[in-house]
Amino acid sequence: MSDGRALARQYLEQQRLLGGDAVILSDSRTVAQSDSDDTPAIVGRVLASARRPRSDRPTVRPSDPGVRPSDASLPPPGISCDPPSADLFAADPVSQAGTLQAVAALVAACTKCRLCAGRTNTVPGEGPDDARLVVIGEGPGRVEDETGRPFVGKAGELLTKILGAIELPRERVFICNVVKCRPPENRLPQYDEIAACLPYLHRQLELLKPKVILAMGGTAAQTLLDTKQSLGALRNRVHRFRGIPVIVTYHPAALLRNPNWKRPTWDDVRIARRLLD
Ligand code: SF4
Repeated sequence: MSDGRALARQYLEQQRLLGGDAVILSDSRTVAQSDSDDTPAIVGRVLASARRPRSDRPTVRPSDPGVRPSDASLPPPGISCDPPSADLFAADPVSQAGTLQAVAALVAACTKCRLCAGRTNTVPGEGPDDARLVVIGEGPGRVEDETGRPFVGKAGELLTKILGAIELPRERVFICNVVKCRPPENRLPQYDEIAACLPYLHRQLELLKPKVILAMGGTAAQTLLDTKQSLGALRNRVHRFRGIPVIVTYHPAALLRNPNWKRPTWDDVRIARRLLD
């Protein structure tokens, strides 16, 4: 390989690592020439392509196959879900709960669905009242049920690492689940259980007014956005819940089972981070 061609390869590799635009050499004659004595011309064209003003370059859309979210501004808009807010004059105690602690107290005494029968502790959620990011999972597991805290155990440790990677200490995030009591054998919460528990989550979001919501797993995403679309279809979009941006990604427990999803999850949480900034 000539020095010029090695230089071009090195430059392109640097561009790839830096997330630069792809440079496609479609003219086979050009490539063939580069093997011989015309390599400096190719290097010149590559450098010219890199130096071209960004406005002259082809538009990169996040929906294009193979394009990482980091290569574009933000993903396109998705579902906008806008359920009615709590009626201030309603007699319903959940609507009347004025603080997160009041919501947690109502949850602690709740018997509105069958999940109350098997719980050790309710798991209403935890985090500061002024959290800018709210993370929503599916429901408590065994360790959560034992401790009354959300996202503890291995999945919780992974969530803490994920949040740390976007420079958000867990203590600054409000973390909760769709249902506040553990489904037996860690099965999926059933439709009527979700419907019974949802007012608590809606009230928590009304009180918190976060800047961004991260829905982890299909149950959280589908419940919040009131849709049956798959998690795969919901990812890489900026959805809205009452106007608040919602990013959908994999549940940490799923990442423990399938490490291949760590990279796409990393892409998703970086989108959430950008929305927070
Ligand atoms: S899961 Fe929700 S609705 Fe069901 S008993 Fe627990 S707090 Fe109440």
